[in-house]
Parts: sequence; C-alpha cells; structure tokens
Amino acid sequence: MPNLLFATNNLHKLQEVREILGNQFNVLSLKDVNLDVDIPETQETIEGNARQKARFIFDQTGQNCFADDTGLEIDSLGGRPGVYSARYAGEGCSFDDNIDKILGELSGMENRKACFRCVICLIINGEEHLFEGRIDGVIVTERHGSDGFGYDPVFLPDGQRQTFAEMPAYLKNGISHRGKATDKMMKWLKSKMAK
Ligand code: IMP
Repeated sequence: MPNLLFATNNLHKLQEVREILGNQFNVLSLKDVNLDVDIPETQETIEGNARQKARFIFDQTGQNCFADDTGLEIDSLGGRPGVYSARYAGEGCSFDDNIDKILGELSGMENRKACFRCVICLIINGEEHLFEGRIDGVIVTERHGSDGFGYDPVFLPDGQRQTFAEMPAYLKNGISHRGKATDKMMKWLKSKMAK
C-alpha cells in the first residue's frame, strides 16, 4: 500500500481519514514520522490554510503529504465562523465554548441553515492539488450525541434524522465535507497510479 502523510495534529481527523482511505493507502500521522510541530494556519481563506499547512509539512519532510482545512459557514451569521471555526470563541477555547457561542448568536433566529466546507491540499512531488467537499444542513437548538468532534453535536445534515455526533462514523464519513473531499483525492490518486 502506498504511504501518504496527513499533515494534521487532530486525532479525530486522522481517524476519519484512515477509515475512508484505510484499505487503499497507508495514512501516516506526523507522529509516525517523528514530527512534533505546531502547524501554522494564518491565512484568510480555507483554501489558503489547507495550502499553508500542506506546504509547511512538505517543506519539513520532503514527503508527499496532504492537509485539510474546514469551516462551518452559517447563513444568518454571514458565513461565520468560516475560516475562524477553530477559535471562534477566542484563543484557547474548547469545542463546547464554540458551540455555546453559535447557539447564543442563533438564539431566536429562524434561518439556521449552515454548511461545512472542507478543502484538502495534496502535495505530490512538490505540486499542489486541491479537492473540496461540502455538506449542507442546519444548526439545531441544542446538542445531540457525543461522537465526533467540533460542531458535530449541533449539525444536522439535510435529509438526516441524526446530528453528526449521533451517527456511526461510517455514516458521517459517507456524507461529510471531509469524506467527499477525501474521496475526490482518492479517486484522483488512483487515476494517476493507474497510468
Ligand atoms: P480546521 O481548521 O480544519 O482544524 O477546522 C476548524 C474547526 O472546525 C475545528 O476546530 C472544529 O471545531 C471544526 N470542524 C472541522 N471539521 C469538523 C467536523 O467534521 N465536524 C465538526 N466540526 C468540525
């Protein structure tokens, strides 16, 4: 199986992507290559952050690698938290703090439409390739479920009865932003390998 290094320190993401790519690629973590670094994400777009993270790890290791960046975009908040999803409630905040903040801001609002957008930047032999995935849904009024991470307990995908945090992992991965972007990357890689 070919190795592919995932430029992330987020163990939830690592687990999800391993479940998606598991029997096609050997997904290496930064720990697997003995790299203990904070990865910068200081750009103003999701695409920019995905490229910055992947380039940073490629420059450190010289290995083919990929990084993802995700934003939750809420209609009534003009697309916020978007690229600021990780630290929406302030530096050092928890997932719970972020959820409390959006629930507060959406309190009493009728339009609760939102989407997750994920961009993966894959660097192969120094060249960047971008893949995007998106899932639409709504922000529910209170938390449901305890699986997953981040905003999962309050995100109900369109056409589903369970939030991401209530679903089994295979179901989330089958429809999620990250699942779709990862799937596109996998298909692209396989088409290149077949040549
Ligand atoms: P990142 O910058 O790609 O790490 O993502 C920013 C933030 O978005 C994370 O800290 C999480 O709060 C949230 N996030 C990313 N992916 C997911 C997901 O699959 N479900 C719920 N929240 C997510």
